[in-house]
Amino acid sequence: MNATPAEAQERTGGCLCGRIRFTVIGPAIYPHTCHCRHCQKLGGAPVMWWAGFERVTWTGESEPTWFETFPGEAKRGFCPTCGARIAAIDSDIPELGINVTALDDTSGADLVPVNASFRDNAVHWLPPVPDTQPTTAS
Ligand SMILES: [Zn+2]
Ligand SMILES: [Zn+2]
Repeated sequence: MNATPAEAQERTGGCLCGRIRFTVIGPAIYPHTCHCRHCQKLGGAPVMWWAGFERVTWTGESEPTWFETFPGEAKRGFCPTCGARIAAIDSDIPELGINVTALDDTSGADLVPVNASFRDNAVHWLPPVPDTQPTTAS
């Protein structure tokens, strides 16, 4: 199997204080923003920016501390020292969710959000990104 450049791509990231570092490999899966109450409460912001990655390796001095937002179903990872949000694990989804803002380089074209989750909960002064997902409907 030939690896395309996107599949071979390695990206690094970490928290603000640098205790948590990670490497992700492969293309970003379903980059999106989220306006849900959990993202707002945990993020301290009206919206969070997410992308999934199939493989993540923790390379810093510690791994994220996990907080279960839906016990047994979903948890969010953060740095207990600086508070930076890093990742999410959702039992429905095989890939790990990464807070794109934790990546060292957020400029990749494949990181541009293709949809907004919980757009009905968006603050009125910050419009959700448009849904630009390829449509499968005929
Ligand atoms: Zn930190
Ligand atoms: Zn959310």
